[in-house]
Amino acid sequence: SANSGEADLTAARKLLRDVFGYDKFRFGQEEIISNVLAGRDTLALLPTGAGKSMCYQLPAMLLPGVTIVVSPLVSLMDDQVAAMREVGIAAGAIHSGLNAPEVMDTFRKLHNGELKVLYLAPERLLQRSFQERLQEVRVSLIAVDEAHCISQWGHDFRPEYGQLGEIREQLPGAPVLALTATADAVTRQDIIERLHLDDSALVQGSFDRPNIRYLVQEKYKPRTQVLKYVKRQRGASGIIYCGSRKRTEELAEMLMREGIRAAAYNAGLPHDQRAAALQGFIRDDIDVVVATVAFGMGINKPNVRFVMHYDLPRSVEAYYQETGRAGRDGAAAEAIMLYEPGDAAWVWKILEEHDETPQLRVEKQKFSAMTSFAEAQTCRRLVLLNYFNEYRDKACGNCDLCIQPPRQYDGTVDAQKALSCVYRTGQQFGVHHVVDVLRGSQNQKIKQFNHDQLSTYGIGSDHSAEYWVSVLRQLIHRGLLLQDIRRHSALVLTEEARPVLRGEVALTLAEPRLATTAQLNSVVE
Ligand code: ADP
Ligand code: ZN
Repeated sequence: SANSGEADLTAARKLLRDVFGYDKFRFGQEEIISNVLAGRDTLALLPTGAGKSMCYQLPAMLLPGVTIVVSPLVSLMDDQVAAMREVGIAAGAIHSGLNAPEVMDTFRKLHNGELKVLYLAPERLLQRSFQERLQEVRVSLIAVDEAHCISQWGHDFRPEYGQLGEIREQLPGAPVLALTATADAVTRQDIIERLHLDDSALVQGSFDRPNIRYLVQEKYKPRTQVLKYVKRQRGASGIIYCGSRKRTEELAEMLMREGIRAAAYNAGLPHDQRAAALQGFIRDDIDVVVATVAFGMGINKPNVRFVMHYDLPRSVEAYYQETGRAGRDGAAAEAIMLYEPGDAAWVWKILEEHDETPQLRVEKQKFSAMTSFAEAQTCRRLVLLNYFNEYRDKACGNCDLCIQPPRQYDGTVDAQKALSCVYRTGQQFGVHHVVDVLRGSQNQKIKQFNHDQLSTYGIGSDHSAEYWVSVLRQLIHRGLLLQDIRRHSALVLTEEARPVLRGEVALTLAEPRLATTAQLNSVVE
């Protein structure tokens, strides 16, 4: 009832103060905690550092049974357990790094009802024998940390996460709290389906990281660009992400030859070497780690000043997660990407070579969003936030496009042409077909659908295809058009498009450009 909800919250606030020593809840925490205490499934989307752990640690103290926390970050479990014990919460962990007596001791406590929180690696939860043990204890809550790992479409799929939905059937009484810092619309839906979150509440914080400056620099002489950039950082901590293991090693060697304290990190290197790179970086003995995506999850270094992408990531989720490692301390930081359209074209070619499966279609869509970010004409932060369904209209002032904007012009009429063309073709076609109709192209598809009979056929023949692609991309970025992933990326008008179509508001567009080397240099120098 409403009353018991109120009582729960009062108790939760008291614990926050008395046990954790904090005066008030941060954004989202109170809502998530009251949901969980009311027994409702919840999907919590909060940025790194927002305080997600509190959302299960605190309810664990108020709930009668044990709270199970599933996490892929075995390396962090012991720290978490120690921190909880410090504040007097009975916590334990079971993972592969423990010896048999330690595991037996935790089992004993679990059986005697002496544990409030139990951290588990996902594979353990899937073991029959362990599931049987769980039947004998009272489980009050299942928290799934880094929940995006469950989605094949997320940027960090973990097969052992894939079957976590099963646990639902085994423990029907316990609500599930799924937590993640990065999930786009498709990944969110996948998490809900795979964990069978019934009637789940979504609590979403802002994805904005205002202290991170987003920069894209055209890739022309990448090694020189890297070196120049790193030298200008004067010993600041940074990560350079590369698409291949070999490149991480080459670049790290180059930097070391130039006197920079750098190290390579990739999954192919010996364990000792990786551990040394990580430790050196954490202790500030190493300034720059040149790494593949293998480097990152769970790295909690506050003073990373820059994250550079030498190669284009495969998704905006991955990009956001990787750049999010910069500036955790809140001080100014940079996310800089070296971009070459040719690299994107090469990835496209590989994606196109495979048969189109639903999985591949989503991958293409995600990669397309990533290239759109790289080729954006409007504030990059708006593009990023829009991708995570967080809509704003005010440019950020802290990205290369805001600092040095491409030329703007009144694009109202062209926007109207493009939007009405989407409308006339029935909102069922992707960017390229709409551009073909606008430009009055004569191809099979246009004949097949009689699109040469439309009033919008050929109304854009005064501009190049590249120009119209750019206009449509900008309309997507501005939230006037959506791309429906489930229907071959068909363009669909949003409510935002109406006032523009009706001529009630003017729309400024940016001239298509991939910023020139000189322009971007001046931003970075
Ligand atoms: P996340 O998992 O979302 O990245 P954490 O759970 O690691 O974040 O929390 C980040 C930090 O914020 C921790 O040091 C935690 O103790 C602190 N914290 C959590 N909740 C609050 C609060 N309500 N007020 C102040 N600090 C908080
Ligand atoms: Zn901006």
